[in-house]
Amino acid sequence: MFIMSEDSQRTQGRDAQSSNIMAGKAVAEAVRTTLGPRGMDKMLVDSGGEVVITNDGATILNEMDIEHPAAQMIVEVADSQEEEVGDGTTTAAVIAGNLLGEAEDLIEQDVHATTIVEGYHEASEIALEAIEEQISEEAVDDDVLKQVAESSMTGKGTGGLTAESLAETVVEAIRHVELEGGVARDNVTVHTQIGASSNATELVPGIVIDEEPAHEGMPTDVEDASIAVLDVELGVRTGEIDAEYAIDSIDQLNTALDAEESEVRGYAETVADSGADVVFTTEDVDDRVSNFLANEGILVFENVGSSDAKDIVSATGATRVGALDDLEESDFGAADRVRTDSFGDDELAFVEGGAAAETVTVFVRGGTEHVVDELERAIGDALDVVATALASGEVVPGAGATEIAIADKIREEAAGIEGRKQLAVNAFADALDVVPRTLAANTGQDPIDALVDLRAAHESEGRAGLITSGEEVTIADPFEYGVIDPADVKREAVESATEAATMIARIDDVIAAE
Ligand code: ADP
Ligand code: MG
Repeated sequence: MFIMSEDSQRTQGRDAQSSNIMAGKAVAEAVRTTLGPRGMDKMLVDSGGEVVITNDGATILNEMDIEHPAAQMIVEVADSQEEEVGDGTTTAAVIAGNLLGEAEDLIEQDVHATTIVEGYHEASEIALEAIEEQISEEAVDDDVLKQVAESSMTGKGTGGLTAESLAETVVEAIRHVELEGGVARDNVTVHTQIGASSNATELVPGIVIDEEPAHEGMPTDVEDASIAVLDVELGVRTGEIDAEYAIDSIDQLNTALDAEESEVRGYAETVADSGADVVFTTEDVDDRVSNFLANEGILVFENVGSSDAKDIVSATGATRVGALDDLEESDFGAADRVRTDSFGDDELAFVEGGAAAETVTVFVRGGTEHVVDELERAIGDALDVVATALASGEVVPGAGATEIAIADKIREEAAGIEGRKQLAVNAFADALDVVPRTLAANTGQDPIDALVDLRAAHESEGRAGLITSGEEVTIADPFEYGVIDPADVKREAVESATEAATMIARIDDVIAAE
């Protein structure tokens, strides 16, 4: 009896397990070489010839267009890591891949998948306790935050900029949006602009939008601006004259044109009389209106994108107005300064200070699209980790030190666990070794030797990582060298990798429709 369509494919038992595990491992393997300060970049070319050059785990996995369902689950690990904490995507994917590799060995030794899953869950609980023990007792101040930012950016293409100067900009931005008991991370935006050295990257106390003045004669720099945001067309809707008048004489045409002229002048006067210095409207502005407003010294932007309009509203405290008659002073937003500036062919508007000061923009410059794109990702990661570290106040040593400590604690506790589950718990510890091993391999060191030395240093010194600084690689306390990660990045990596690996390991039947 057939209960499935003849076209569907079914893989069962060990075959299903090993094909899923292989796919998952392969995905993790793909990002392994990008891990850490000496990680390499990948160039990804899509079917349309679009090129992305990146070191970012989540970006690589998403650009790879992965189809295998089990492999897709590793991509989801990286995605959830990116979403929850903004960094550690390669770490999480690599740990998940190694948990699968270890599971494969256990299955070959006839350890049942259920036992593996139980062991992994138990080990991940121990891992979370170990992370707790690694949290620094020092206060998370600006220096620590800068180190957290730098640690997240090393190995990323930061153009001509040093990670150090970028880290300063990032910390300044996050401090700007710090609230009591939290961080308004969404109030920091990143705006990229091609055409200058990345050294020109700066922090703008406000927002930057891709808009240009409606008329050449308008001011390009307005201080203490009262800002109106409108969804109003400032002109006569085309076609309106024909619809309303049947014109059969020159006189009638002139009357119609006069009527139009005065209507247009009416709009211009209403805007000018309202007292606004700067006007953003999402609709068209008639040339005659912009000419008039330019003469009045008013700066107007037309056809402003809806999302830009939203940003201006939230940055300046303006209220969007849908009809000119409703425009009142109380609808105005405020900014210390609204200015425009041209960059090559692009003209940008900067809305700075005043109410706008709640939001800040990291204005990223760079010579080419690839440079600014990767710089944007690196800054995005750094903003996320600094926000996370500041909000929680919890940081742990990087450079593999936390992973070594976790593995150590798990092995210690595994001794007291009965039966085959002990094998799975120990396997979890082995899987975590992948982080220091990979950091070593990516710096050209022998991974086995490095691991042995690291463990020995951890035993004797208590905190030991594989520190890369310049050309040097040393085993030392990461806190001394400022290699610091937020505790939440490690927690999330352990949890999401465990979840995906255990989910994949317990599948023993794959039914695929054609
Ligand atoms: P991920 O996508 O997992 O964040 P990264 O390529 O950003 O991958 O590498 C992060 C790892 O690199 C972390 O374990 C971090 O502690 C480590 N790291 C950062 N800076 C250094 C350094 N100077 N020396 C050694 N390890 C470092
Ligand atoms: Mg990172």
